[in-house]
Amino acid sequence: MRRPIVVANWKMHKTVPEARSYLRRLIELVGRDPGLDVVVLPSFTALPAAAEMLVGTPIALGAQNAHPEASGAFTGEVSVVQLTDLGVRYVVCGHSERRHLFGEDDALIGRKVQAVTAHGQVPILCVGETLDERRAGRAWEVVARQLEAGASELGDDPRGLVIAYEPVWAIGTGVAAQPADAQAMASQVRGWLRDRFGAKGDEIRVQYGGSVKPDNAREFLSLPDVDGALVGGASLDPGAFAAIAHAARR
Ligand code: PEP
Repeated sequence: MRRPIVVANWKMHKTVPEARSYLRRLIELVGRDPGLDVVVLPSFTALPAAAEMLVGTPIALGAQNAHPEASGAFTGEVSVVQLTDLGVRYVVCGHSERRHLFGEDDALIGRKVQAVTAHGQVPILCVGETLDERRAGRAWEVVARQLEAGASELGDDPRGLVIAYEPVWAIGTGVAAQPADAQAMASQVRGWLRDRFGAKGDEIRVQYGGSVKPDNAREFLSLPDVDGALVGGASLDPGAFAAIAHAARR
């Protein structure tokens, strides 16, 4: 059975003191043995403070992005090596805001996934179609292309890879996908993973993301091919995020 994984994407929110007070509360709410993987993705600035606070807790630290090169003349970027040094264990690759607002393409995202894996961290590869693509009946074609490119440098070994299916039109809009549509896509993703990685594909966790809240979390987290959630807006409140995490328990 795949262990559920629930991830809080804070995006560009929270100062260091705000991050500390959030984590104090979340640690209390999550408890010692949540029975699932709980991950927080603070801004880069809050990572050192968060790393310190999360030692000895069941909450893991992740980053929202990383550059694939280990070091070099890449002003404003942060490398996987630098993140590893801070205790980061998960890195999001290809979030739709990176793809659409910052022009990240499939090839760059594939390199990020490879770099994260090469440093022993877990890549969370985000895939998902826009509303126009869905309306044009191209949702699966787009997601399949993103999966293909994202996993293109992994060889036969997915090593911990996590996929987040996040329809772009559901992110930050308050309009979540229909659970049946999320299940249909997660099942197609699972079929693709099985074709690509054989039996190892069955171990890869597939999350749903897009306007998940405490009151709709269970609808998504009980779907047979959905193993967790990537949560943006609702994760900014520790009580709401902990409620979503509790809904993911099996
Ligand atoms: C996200 O940031 O990946 C996300 C799904 O955001 P929200 O939950 O706000 O839709």
